[in-house]
Amino acid sequence: DVDLTLKCIVVGNGAVGKTSLITRFVKGEYTDEYKKTIGTDFLETEFYSESADEEVTLHLWDTAGQEVFSTITRSYYRGSALCILAFSTVDRASFDAIKKWMSRVEEECGPIPMVIMQNKIDLLTDSSEVSLVDGDALAKELDLPIVRTCVKDERGVKELFDTLVSTYFDL
Ligand code: GDP
Repeated sequence: DVDLTLKCIVVGNGAVGKTSLITRFVKGEYTDEYKKTIGTDFLETEFYSESADEEVTLHLWDTAGQEVFSTITRSYYRGSALCILAFSTVDRASFDAIKKWMSRVEEECGPIPMVIMQNKIDLLTDSSEVSLVDGDALAKELDLPIVRTCVKDERGVKELFDTLVSTYFDL
């Protein structure tokens, strides 16, 4: 068995659910408390991608608290193999910022596999700030997959990582 370790960064505006995603995925915990940082640079977890039939070690880097782009942020991005572009269904500005986040990552990492994460799908209504149609249009425009998640109840989280890892092996 080849042990492949992939660095994965989670980027996006503040409060979209980046820290919650990583904590949920790695530790199986969810907290309503707003945490600015998980205290370490990254959390490690083993992940088996069904679609790719591959087992990988993921190093998940939380960029929460680094929403202001700087040289520090750049060093966080370095060496990333995978990227999650996260926005919230109830935060239009976070949706509008996805393109900006994508180009920042591309500037530092080149064209690595990315997936768009539409989080807080539990709060989707007819009048929520971002609709499913908006998400689909963005995914089409950027030519990226989109996965809807509710980190709160773990919906879509496995699918998100499965999509990302299988994209990596498809290249
Ligand atoms: P970050 O700044 O992007 O790391 O965002 P956090 O992970 O700190 O989450 C911000 C807030 O959104 C917290 O209060 C979370 O509990 C909440 N949150 C995260 N995911 C979800 C979700 O899927 N649904 C709902 N309703 N709240 C969520």
